[in-house]
Amino acid sequence: MRRVKVIGAGIGGLVTAIGLQRRGVDVTVFERASSPGPVGAGLSLFGNAFTALDAIGAGDAVRALGGPQGELHAGQRRPDGRWLSTIPPDAVAELRVVHRADLHRVLAGELAPGTIRWGSPTTAELGEFDVVVAADGLRSQTRSSWPDDPGVRYAGYSTWRGVTARPVDVGGEAGETVGRGERFGMAPLPDGRVYWFGVSTMPLDATFADEYQEVRRRFAGWHAPIADLFDATEPSDVFRTGIFELAGPLPSFRRGRVVLLGDAAHAMTPDLGQGANQAIEDAATLSLLLAGSADIDAALSEYDRLRRPRTQRIAGRAHLMGRLMQSRSPLRNLLLRLTPPQAVARQLRSMQSWQPPAAAEQTPA
Ligand SMILES: Cc1cc2nc3c(=O)[nH]c(=O)nc-3n(C[C@H](O)[C@H](O)[C@H](O)COP(=O)(O)OP(=O)(O)OC[C@H]3O[C@@H](n4cnc5c(N)ncnc54)[C@H](O)[C@@H]3O)c2cc1C
Repeated sequence: MRRVKVIGAGIGGLVTAIGLQRRGVDVTVFERASSPGPVGAGLSLFGNAFTALDAIGAGDAVRALGGPQGELHAGQRRPDGRWLSTIPPDAVAELRVVHRADLHRVLAGELAPGTIRWGSPTTAELGEFDVVVAADGLRSQTRSSWPDDPGVRYAGYSTWRGVTARPVDVGGEAGETVGRGERFGMAPLPDGRVYWFGVSTMPLDATFADEYQEVRRRFAGWHAPIADLFDATEPSDVFRTGIFELAGPLPSFRRGRVVLLGDAAHAMTPDLGQGANQAIEDAATLSLLLAGSADIDAALSEYDRLRRPRTQRIAGRAHLMGRLMQSRSPLRNLLLRLTPPQAVARQLRSMQSWQPPAAAEQTPA
């Protein structure tokens, strides 16, 4: 039987392990953290993530988390609440915003007991394994040991994130509000609590005496219900993350029997909400190819061929979107106002219209 070592029990590593285990591959996930960490934030999962999860048989488990959250009026607003653009609801009909901790719990629960070795930092040495899947995140040690690692770069902005401690009525409205070098986003979770984020352009080494007070101060006076969201959030649950991306595209996701997956391969800014969605696509692709082909090396090469162009294109678009949304230029709002909703819808549909590889139909080795 084929043996696969997965480095990292993040979303990418867990979905890979589910896909492989369901197809009879002997898989072990090594995670350096001693237990699942509390991740107090939401995560958007689009139609493409559900297509990928369905391809490995895990879609319904994730859907059971709840949502979609009904037809929301979503798009971009000005700080005074006036809408600049709206997203046609049918273009995001499958979008669900879930709590990260819930998603991790559901994914880990899909694996046979003992599959994840917590508190086990590891390297990309093959040892007794046939393949190593390095799903070891933005600062992947595996990638940094490759000669062509481009490294990571700070995107110039940082994000505070929080989840309200209780349900808050967002009045059927969600999306982003854009100021000058600042943005605020909100999305209801299936249980009515609200995931929110505040993004500000700042130096990487900026420090604040009180993160909660700082984010409140920056978005004071912005439209309702932003102040209510701060009121409903425990100050200790608010945290700030500097936004990083891969400094350039990798020439390959594969070196011998080691492949990079998820942020390790293509860390992107969160401006399209696609980082984890792409990790899930990677995971479904790799597990279907590896389990469905007698030739391991051919499967790994095919994984690289299928995944690199798409993920690098989406990372490039996320980068440009981040530049646009953080822009202080008045032209930004004009552009948002003049972009027809149908053009936005077309983009969103095309991003989500992904299909798994046909290798799923092949007979497993
Ligand atoms: C502010 C923000 C908002 C975002 N919002 C969204 C969103 O709405 N939708 C979306 O799709 N994406 C979003 N993303 C991106 C998303 O969070 C990431 O793309 C995704 O979590 C990457 O998953 P991963 O499994 O590749 O890596 P990680 O989640 O980073 O997992 C890597 C794991 O590997 C472990 N590890 C590392 N080294 C070792 C080692 N040597 N041995 C053992 N274990 C190791 C780590 O401890 C970690 O658990 C957002 C990102 C940010 C910063």
